[in-house]
Amino acid sequence: MSAEIIDGKAFAANIRAEVARDCAAFREKTGIQPGLAVILVGNDPASEVYVRNKGIQAKEVGFASLEYKLPADTSQEALLAKVAALNADPKVHGILVQLPLPKHLDADAVLNTITPDKDVDGFHPVNVGRLWTGNPVSIPCTPLGCSLILRDRLGDLAGKRAIVIGRSNIVGKPMAALLLAANATVTIAHSRTADLAARCREADIVIAAVGKPELVRGDWLKPGATVLDVGINRIADGDKTRLVGDVHFASAAEVASAITPVPGGIGPMTIACLLRNTLACAKALHALHD
Ligand code: NDP
Repeated sequence: MSAEIIDGKAFAANIRAEVARDCAAFREKTGIQPGLAVILVGNDPASEVYVRNKGIQAKEVGFASLEYKLPADTSQEALLAKVAALNADPKVHGILVQLPLPKHLDADAVLNTITPDKDVDGFHPVNVGRLWTGNPVSIPCTPLGCSLILRDRLGDLAGKRAIVIGRSNIVGKPMAALLLAANATVTIAHSRTADLAARCREADIVIAAVGKPELVRGDWLKPGATVLDVGINRIADGDKTRLVGDVHFASAAEVASAITPVPGGIGPMTIACLLRNTLACAKALHALHD
């Protein structure tokens, strides 16, 4: 079997087009332009690239994009005060604090200060609770992207067996919650899981979110499985480097029915879903104050 390669870039472009259309209709109806505020502390080059891309794409769909670049030695108090000011700002509907933060800052305390109604990353405990109790508002962007792809490709997930490899708060756990809500039967695997290959071979859907280059091999897969590779790992390739996922693409593509590549698979979906969440927050805030 040679798997179909799922084009995450095209998928993400469709989501952005949908958000742009919905945003225009929302502005027409309410006169409100959704505003996305992104706080970047320090000069991490990868974070600067992400933040720039978020800003460009936010403007492209019709949002106001507000960027706050704070120095690396910003104090916890100053950062919390910035978040509090954005919480109170009616022009801001979504707040994102770019991670990782410099080591002297307490990321949990900062994320928990973002008001849940503007928490476009879906990391606040209130939004985690809303997701697990079946009333999601903001869903963490990467798992949301995965679940939109699965819904598009597989439709109803009832009766499917899924494995999520990785149990982080950002990807693994919310992914498992979404699969469960879609009536899949879900295994959550992690570094202490026994016989991971055998658990994978039972699954119709494999989500790899581990951070270990090419961990999942073709002979770990059930023939015809759908494989979503969330991992982004930079590995040495001669005197250069290249990006690979958590799945060994060539061998997995021989066994799976469909697979996301790295790059160009799940990665592009993350910012598209951030924009989707921002519009959802703007709509919910408007409904609250209307
Ligand atoms: P974390 O490091 O927070 O979590 C990794 C998880 O993998 C942990 O639960 C860990 O288990 C588990 N794990 C580690 N080694 C093994 C192993 N050998 N077998 C089974 N499970 C293992 O990572 P994230 O969830 O934040 O990210 C995962 C990957 O996804 C990374 O490559 C990251 O770069 C990428 N990523 C991509 C995004 C995108 O936009 N495409 C967005 C976010 C992340 P334990 O809990 O026991 O330690």
